Amino acid sequence: MTSKPHMVSFALAALTLSTAFSLHPDQQKVLLVSFDGFRWDYLYKFPTPHFHYVMRNGVHVKQVTNIFITKTYPNHYTLVTGLFAENHGIVANDMFDPILNKSFALDHMNIYDSDFWEGATPIWITNQRAGHASGTAMWPGGDVKIHKSFPTYYLAYNESVSFEDRVAKIIEWFTSKDPINLGLLYWEDPDDMGHHLGPDSPLMGPVISDIDKKLGYLIQMLKKAKLWTVVNLIITSDHGMTQCSEERVIELDKYLNRDHYTLIDQSPVAAILPREGKFNEVYEALADAHPNLTVYKQEEVPERWHYKRNDRIQPVIAVADEGWNILQNKSDDFLLGNHGYDNALAEMHPIFLAHGPAFRKNFTKEAMNSTDLYPLLCHLLNVTAMPHNGSFRNVQDLLNSATPKAIPYTQSTTLLLGSDIPGVYEQEESYPYFIGVSLGSIIVIVFFVIFIKHLIPSQVPALQDMQAEIAQPLLQA
Ligand SMILES: [Zn+2]
Repeated sequence: MTSKPHMVSFALAALTLSTAFSLHPDQQKVLLVSFDGFRWDYLYKFPTPHFHYVMRNGVHVKQVTNIFITKTYPNHYTLVTGLFAENHGIVANDMFDPILNKSFALDHMNIYDSDFWEGATPIWITNQRAGHASGTAMWPGGDVKIHKSFPTYYLAYNESVSFEDRVAKIIEWFTSKDPINLGLLYWEDPDDMGHHLGPDSPLMGPVISDIDKKLGYLIQMLKKAKLWTVVNLIITSDHGMTQCSEERVIELDKYLNRDHYTLIDQSPVAAILPREGKFNEVYEALADAHPNLTVYKQEEVPERWHYKRNDRIQPVIAVADEGWNILQNKSDDFLLGNHGYDNALAEMHPIFLAHGPAFRKNFTKEAMNSTDLYPLLCHLLNVTAMPHNGSFRNVQDLLNSATPKAIPYTQSTTLLLGSDIPGVYEQEESYPYFIGVSLGSIIVIVFFVIFIKHLIPSQVPALQDMQAEIAQPLLQA
């Protein structure tokens, strides 16, 4: 009789399958690192051995489409919420909210007003609500009280804190008595030097080499703390950088009277708030003013930018062509490198690489959207995603085959792209989850059929007899 070995093997198969669909706690650790302004092709333009070490032993996405406007705060909030700027509300580094009657200005560091951030819920809060601990080291918004919460651990923003000290904090939090499972680490370069030198400068070589050494240091410290093989490390950035020139400047003073408007955000996307009764005058003066400037009324901003449905987007939006800067006049600060332009431009695109137990090895993917990172993070952390504009399915192939391909959160929601109404969602289906459940069910059924057939055939009445027994009372009635 061969039934017993069959039973055992089927039982084992069913057990293996069911455990394969629950996440191992070791796979639920994530360290997200952003090197501000790291353009996608710096990896090929300059020697970057540590970045390439991560790529060989992990995954790499060649083209990451970030969000418009391609500025620091909007994109960092997208990375941790999966939302377009019009949905998460951090629409620029410099903003004015006419409903709150409040300003948000990066240069003045008055960014700590919770009201600006509460259009969304960043991943660290969702992670904490699920009972985990999070830590942010200088991540934009990571020291702001949002929905009444700070991260479990955080460093108050201070650009003079060294990279090494930031790494030390992250390692301390991952190995503390109440350890984090989510760490976020931010570094200001190569953005600062990219603005200063321009990305085409040969002096960018040493800047990128320094970043590569910093990544090497992080890897070394993770290995030393025995975290390298258990933490899912994701390295990305917010935007790229393009070369500018003093020859390519659009001076607003040539076309507009300063008394007729307030300039909320400057370059390369000028956010213009006309004074009362001056809208038509301002719009018409600027509409055809310069061949390298495209001017939109707020409601006419192209759909693909998802940049119109928010009170913080100003009535007139003037967008410069790549490499052009908008100034009020030439005496204003000028930058040799800039970003903020159309997110379809390759030079605005960031990097994306990852390494860890959940990721495939030596795998290159062609393209993703930066909004897709958020559902990926939720998957890795095993938390339920808030409504977002990304797609987990779009990045699922970055994960290795041993990694469960789906968890219950996939029953949750993805914001319909370009939906007029925040709150209207499409269901993100989970085929692998469905296939897994189906396979598990089939194995269980087959197991019972064989069990019944081989062990107790004599005790199972023939189907015809059963039907006859059921039918009898009816016949008697
Ligand atoms: Zn930036």
